[in-house]
Amino acid sequence: MKKILLTFLLTIIIGSAFAQQSENLAIITNKGTKFIPLWVREGVLYISVSDLAEAFSLNHYISESTGKVELKSNYYLLKSTPRNPFLILTSRSTGIPKVYQLPKSTYIKNGETFIPLTYSLEPLEVMVERKLNFERPNRLIVGTAITSPTEGREWMFDKPDLPPTTGYGITGLTVTEKVNGTLIRLHSKTQIPSYFSSLEDDELTIIFRKVNADVNKTTKNDVSDLIKGIETRNVGSDAEFKFKVGSDYSTNEVMNVPGSNDILITIHNKVFSQNQKNQKNIDKWHFDVVVIDAGHGGKDPGAIGIDNIREKDITLAIGLKLGQILKKEMPDVKVVYTRDDDTFVDLYKRGKIANENNGKLFISIHCNSTKKKPSNASGAEVYLLRPGRTEEAIDIAETENSVIKYEENPDRYEKLTDENFILVSMAHSAYMKYSEKFAELLHKEFDLNLKLKSRGVKQAGFYVLVGASMPSVLVETGFISNKEDAKFLKSASGQKQVAESIFSSIETYRKFYEDAIEAEL
Ligand SMILES: [Zn+2]
Repeated sequence: MKKILLTFLLTIIIGSAFAQQSENLAIITNKGTKFIPLWVREGVLYISVSDLAEAFSLNHYISESTGKVELKSNYYLLKSTPRNPFLILTSRSTGIPKVYQLPKSTYIKNGETFIPLTYSLEPLEVMVERKLNFERPNRLIVGTAITSPTEGREWMFDKPDLPPTTGYGITGLTVTEKVNGTLIRLHSKTQIPSYFSSLEDDELTIIFRKVNADVNKTTKNDVSDLIKGIETRNVGSDAEFKFKVGSDYSTNEVMNVPGSNDILITIHNKVFSQNQKNQKNIDKWHFDVVVIDAGHGGKDPGAIGIDNIREKDITLAIGLKLGQILKKEMPDVKVVYTRDDDTFVDLYKRGKIANENNGKLFISIHCNSTKKKPSNASGAEVYLLRPGRTEEAIDIAETENSVIKYEENPDRYEKLTDENFILVSMAHSAYMKYSEKFAELLHKEFDLNLKLKSRGVKQAGFYVLVGASMPSVLVETGFISNKEDAKFLKSASGQKQVAESIFSSIETYRKFYEDAIEAEL
């Protein structure tokens, strides 16, 4: 009796603190039933994100360092952070996010993230583009397609009987090898309505809907260092591509080439190649050089603010102060300035200086301004190199980029069109995770410790960031068109505070970076 009671008590204790697997969740579609484990924690039902992704054939990515999970469907991206009650659903075409606050946080166990099932149904419905009905205790009914702005989209469970296509849509492919991976362009005669991909055992499968491929022209061996082979077959009215990727595989992206029917597939390798695991390689990634890029200079004054203060003077003052702090507090790190006096430096040369010095972090310092002066806009912003998402961000990048008018050969800069951005982001993808981390740290640091408010992490196409082959951000330290911001940025103490905040984030970032390379090497 005592033993039974003890077991009973233990069950209650364990049950309240840890999750217990109850039974399987039956995912019922008109094509059949799949089962995934269902967990109970404090009376709430949870499923693992990987199980969910597999059941619905969604691409998923888990960050080992942060435990953040991303689920990717053709049209949406769903992000979840462990022990956090928010799910963020972003439209991949517009970049507009929708935030769902769940009454229960997600939790993480053994590197796996679990989400509360019943509370997550709404964003999941959008992800899978189907009505989802949960019936207690353990049945999830996958219903009819949701008709929404996404109307006309395909759902993988459906294999409608289509008339056989005449000829091949995908007629061939070209492969371009880049330092950071492989770029494959599929030549297509017809528009490909949709595609989805999955990764299993070093094999990346991408299925293109309603198009057939010329198998002879698309099946290849020894494609690149990263891709051992491509195997193609036609399944009904779809074309299936299997890419055999090695252990260096990191991520992939599939996109339509703007203005054509072609598809661009980028398959990225890891920054720190497993194949070159040796001391020389470890030394190569050592955090030993920070590049400080004070915006503008010489004949280019940058923006002109209140009381005619010039952006170029403020960026230089902040840059030099940051350099001083770095030299004192991190003597083992070399400081490289793209300029340390009032001289003009071409935008492309700034990246070149950074690369030639093997920089491990590139920080471009600027000040914002509005046309109207004085104005109310105020605060700092941190920018990543990505296609601009808002009118405002695009305007800021255009203003910063316009300084090429002072250069002798402004034609050297290729306009950052969608297609060019694909190529640029290909080159930068390896560092993007690090740029993102630094940007996030800088934003937090500004938010917590700076008198200027932080307007957040944003993205746009800055030429100065294109050239730097390393994690890089551009900081708009504040609006010199705003009275308060201008007063702060003009003062030596304000400049020092900005420099200290940047240094503080470099310190935190360095720890993150060093842990990350240790784990990757
Ligand atoms: Zn500027």
